[in-house]
Amino acid sequence: MPTDSLNIMKNSDIAKAVQVLREGGLVAFPTETVYGLGADASNELAVRKVFQAKARPADHPLIVHIGSVNELPDWAEVVPPAAKQLMDAFWPGPLTLVFKKRSYVLASVTGGQDTVAVRMPSHPIASELLQAYGKGLVAPSANQFTHLSPTSAAAVREELGSVIDLILDGGACELGLESTILDVSREKPVILRPGMITRTMLENVLGEPILVATNETTTRAPGRHHLHYAPTTKTILLPTEKVAAYARSLTPTDLPVVFVVRHETVLPHETGNIHWVTMPPAAKDYAHELYRMLRTLDQQHYQQIIIEDVPLAPEWEAIRDRLTKASYTQC
Ligand code: AMP
Ligand code: MG
Repeated sequence: MPTDSLNIMKNSDIAKAVQVLREGGLVAFPTETVYGLGADASNELAVRKVFQAKARPADHPLIVHIGSVNELPDWAEVVPPAAKQLMDAFWPGPLTLVFKKRSYVLASVTGGQDTVAVRMPSHPIASELLQAYGKGLVAPSANQFTHLSPTSAAAVREELGSVIDLILDGGACELGLESTILDVSREKPVILRPGMITRTMLENVLGEPILVATNETTTRAPGRHHLHYAPTTKTILLPTEKVAAYARSLTPTDLPVVFVVRHETVLPHETGNIHWVTMPPAAKDYAHELYRMLRTLDQQHYQQIIIEDVPLAPEWEAIRDRLTKASYTQC
């Protein structure tokens, strides 16, 4: 479908979206994390379209989004007590849980694994759509594979406008970072991807320590692949104390550059070719701004984006994870 026939909606037109999904089409919709590229999770052809649209490798599993906890048994073979506690605490919301899957769940959804990832989003448009559809939707971030996740309908259009049948516009995503993914299919729960629901928050509910996966313990979570979440501009992550020295070391061929800082004082000077933007001091606000900011800077033809590292505190863990991935090959 040509881009100009794409319908970017001012208000959610749920009935039309349901019709598109029933016909095996693709509907992008807002969630509280980022925009998702939705398709019927039990329709093989529709799921295949998602992989094609994103140019996503087939072994990267997708998250099934549901509108009601009653739908969980359609996907999960076993729902352990720990999962129930976490669902009570955080669903609907930005927590994805990985379960042993029902035998019939499509291998294309699970990347051929015996587990399935499920989330119940809290965004009102996502909820309304999922409840109206009544069946699970796969909804990976609505971007080309390895690109930044979109946090606005305009960003979805930039990324995938020519291949999506409908975009539901819900404005800017509240959180702006992808969900926390917790594998509850193992003996002990393991965090596969950090998110704004932190390890500490999960531990407080379960009353026991939770492991965080390393790349050695899992390659199962697509979000764990390096160069996910990457701007196309060379991106460098630097500790606060190295930012000023790095700015002084730049040569004319390195320029223009932009520094993304939390403390304006870390930069010794601004020249015509050294720019900076200041990010909000609180993790929640920083996360909300991050992808929007990187997407904007990525379009401004800088030679480099240099990002001041963030604190080691739990609430910054997901942000640090995405920044590390965005800058992986350049460090
Ligand atoms: P995306 O929706 O593009 O942000 O990525 C989907 C995420 O879901 C990936 O990061 C995967 O890690 C995760 N995921 C989906 N299904 C599974 C599964 N069965 N096991 C582990 N991780 C999964
Ligand atoms: Mg993604």
